[in-house]
Amino acid sequence: MSEQSYDFVVVGAGSAGSIMASRLSEDGRFSVLVLEAGGWDRNVWIHVPIGFAKSIINKGVNWCYQTELEPELHNRKVYWPRGKVIGGSGAINGLIYMRGQPEDFDGWRDSGCPGWGWKDVLPYFLKVEDHYLGDTDLHAKGGPVSVIKPKDRTKLCDSFIAAGVGIGLERNDDFNGPKQDGIGYYDLTVKRGFRSSSARGALHPTKRRQPNLNVCVYAHVDRILIGKGKAVGVEYHVGKSATTRVLARREVVLCGGAVNTPKLLMLSGVGPREHLKSKGIDVKVDRQEVGRNLQDHLSARIICRASEPITVNDQVRTWLGKILTGLNFLLRRRGPLSYAAAQAGMFFKSRTSVPVVDGQAFLLPFSAEGIGQPLHAFSGFNLSVSQSWPSSRGTIELRDADPRSAPVIRPNYLSTEEDRTFFVDAIKRAREILRRRQ
Ligand SMILES: Cc1cc2nc3c(=O)[nH]c(=O)nc-3n(C[C@H](O)[C@H](O)[C@H](O)COP(=O)(O)OP(=O)(O)OC[C@H]3O[C@@H](n4cnc5c(N)ncnc54)[C@H](O)[C@@H]3O)c2cc1C
Repeated sequence: MSEQSYDFVVVGAGSAGSIMASRLSEDGRFSVLVLEAGGWDRNVWIHVPIGFAKSIINKGVNWCYQTELEPELHNRKVYWPRGKVIGGSGAINGLIYMRGQPEDFDGWRDSGCPGWGWKDVLPYFLKVEDHYLGDTDLHAKGGPVSVIKPKDRTKLCDSFIAAGVGIGLERNDDFNGPKQDGIGYYDLTVKRGFRSSSARGALHPTKRRQPNLNVCVYAHVDRILIGKGKAVGVEYHVGKSATTRVLARREVVLCGGAVNTPKLLMLSGVGPREHLKSKGIDVKVDRQEVGRNLQDHLSARIICRASEPITVNDQVRTWLGKILTGLNFLLRRRGPLSYAAAQAGMFFKSRTSVPVVDGQAFLLPFSAEGIGQPLHAFSGFNLSVSQSWPSSRGTIELRDADPRSAPVIRPNYLSTEEDRTFFVDAIKRAREILRRRQ
């Protein structure tokens, strides 16, 4: 087994790992190794905004996880895409720029994480942004991730927004501004027509500049080495080659994402004792919390038929339409190829008695039966309703002690009455908008 050593070893070059690697190496004092299980972000569909619809099912850039059978969803499995490429999920995501609600972070602080309240994390969000609004109290320019307003204003989105205003929602042009509720166009992480990610904005430029930063791709970290209660290095493999051990003189920084980080901790002996023992893993630190308290924002999609041919389905149905769409992007960076997962959306309270904005609905200007399916032949679009504050809690566990095995994901969607009621109320609200004629 070969052995190397660095000051810092960063596991995962996704949204977080790319920034970590760049910041740790930028002054040249420390040697930094980044280990990323996927390859470089060379696939063209990572960069063309609408390409997320291809990356979302592409095993070359995606872990393509599935949940277990979900009891409250008629025993369906739910598909969980996660980026497996430089840029991580930030290279395959829907490009909607959304920082979350202040209450999200204050909730973390109040549950025992000092330093993670909204006021604490805001400066770091600002450091990341290169925002079209420039420097304000809530936005900043000059960071590695470019945030823009979509160039195209479409009849479909304009009608949706007008219908929302018609049922009493306020127009909101900045969901990351002073308040989140309302309806409007999203802000997108796009630069000069192409996806902007922390990998593109931070990792690539730093790597070109800094010899002390080493990025190793197709390097799957199998476990963290723990000595005297401290992480001292990791073991990883590249393809079918032998395991390599690398030591961290200062720190191992875990940036494997919300699914793979708990998986890696458990493989390394950090997690709930009984679960680890049942998989034959030596317990290094008994931590009941690892892999527990899983929360995911389930979405329910309403497939709609437009009364006029104003959807992407209509624009790309014919060969001529496809050619015009291609030209529109090549020459003007506009049209369907420049679209994110959703162009417009709304944030709302599912009922007046709830204390925070608990619902989001996003308008997808196209429709299909499911992920990766062809577009419908009719003028279709989707209104997808999503719960921001689910009360259902799930788990991520190990399937076995093999680092190559996918984890066991059980979100327990809709396992509380509160969450079931949310969807009934929220879908009624979304339908109110759909019924309005503009
Ligand atoms: C399909 C999809 C759409 C989304 N849409 C949006 C959106 O529109 N707006 C928004 O704000 N958010 C969106 N998100 C969420 C957002 O992209 C993520 O919250 C964010 O990217 C997470 O960053 P991260 O660094 O924690 O993890 P990731 O970006 O997922 O990075 C983790 C990295 O670690 C690597 N890795 C994992 N395990 C190992 C291992 N054992 N060894 C080596 N490398 C490893 C992975 O390959 C990956 O590159 C979306 C997410 C997905 C999956």
